[in-house]
Amino acid sequence: MNVQNPSSGFDPRQVTPQPDALAGRVIAITGPTAGIGRALAMEFARRGAELILLGRSVRKLEALDAELGVLQRHAGGPVVPAVLAPLDLEKALAGDYDAVADAIEKRWGRLDGLVHNASQLGQLAPIEQYDVPTWMRVMHVNVNAAFALTQVLMPSLRASPDASVLFTSSGVGRRGRAYWGAYAVSKFAIEGLTQVLAGELERTSVRVNAINPGAVRTAMRRQAYPSEDLATLRDPDSLTAPYVVMLGAASRGITGGTFDAQ
Ligand code: NDP
Repeated sequence: MNVQNPSSGFDPRQVTPQPDALAGRVIAITGPTAGIGRALAMEFARRGAELILLGRSVRKLEALDAELGVLQRHAGGPVVPAVLAPLDLEKALAGDYDAVADAIEKRWGRLDGLVHNASQLGQLAPIEQYDVPTWMRVMHVNVNAAFALTQVLMPSLRASPDASVLFTSSGVGRRGRAYWGAYAVSKFAIEGLTQVLAGELERTSVRVNAINPGAVRTAMRRQAYPSEDLATLRDPDSLTAPYVVMLGAASRGITGGTFDAQ
């Protein structure tokens, strides 16, 4: 597997995923109970994936699981219950991460996809005035937790014949923007983590990439741009296809890249 050369031209937006692109794939996703993550969880289930839902609210996880069950029954296929994994990325300790890894190991013995979607915006403020505890929290949730989760799940990822780790980037993680503080810096770190890990796993069956969803109509976007006309933004449901491509066989061999969803 070669570290993806940006000039190689692979573009997940140009690939139409098969309806069953994720059939039987075991995929873990963080932040599945709102915004983009919720749309992804629904789409992954629709395309046959078996899911590990990592969220901080048990109530929201159970509500999502019920919706996924309805969706699967409507589709007429088997109802494959998801593993609900309560995990608050701000507070989780080593034992909490181990419990997730154990649950996956016990049920499947492998992990085919890991989507790091959860993150926090923190505050928009100049570095000179940025609240220090908020900085620590954003960096912890957006970077440290993603590192810890990836590390603990590596044995399951390595056990898959074709695993894909997908981090979530942002435009402000490629070109810094004034006042975006810890969020922007955390997304630069995620781009770095993607490259470092991809390089280390170059000769394995685990590929590692990042995706930037672009501007999407979610609570985070509203928090960042409170006066924006929501009608001008893409709906999360409309940009799941590039994620499916990055997690399915169509992106096999692509690693170390950063891609756009729109
Ligand atoms: P939302 O704010 O709508 O959703 C964020 C998700 O992260 C929620 O499910 C939330 O959980 C979860 N989360 C937050 N904190 C924690 C925590 N401590 N522990 C566990 N889960 C947590 O954001 P989006 O859907 O907009 O963003 C998804 C990803 O896309 C993020 O990585 C974001 O940076 C990125 N992105 C988004 C853009 C946009 O325009 N929307 C643009 C560029 C990048 P809960 O459901 O419990 O609240």
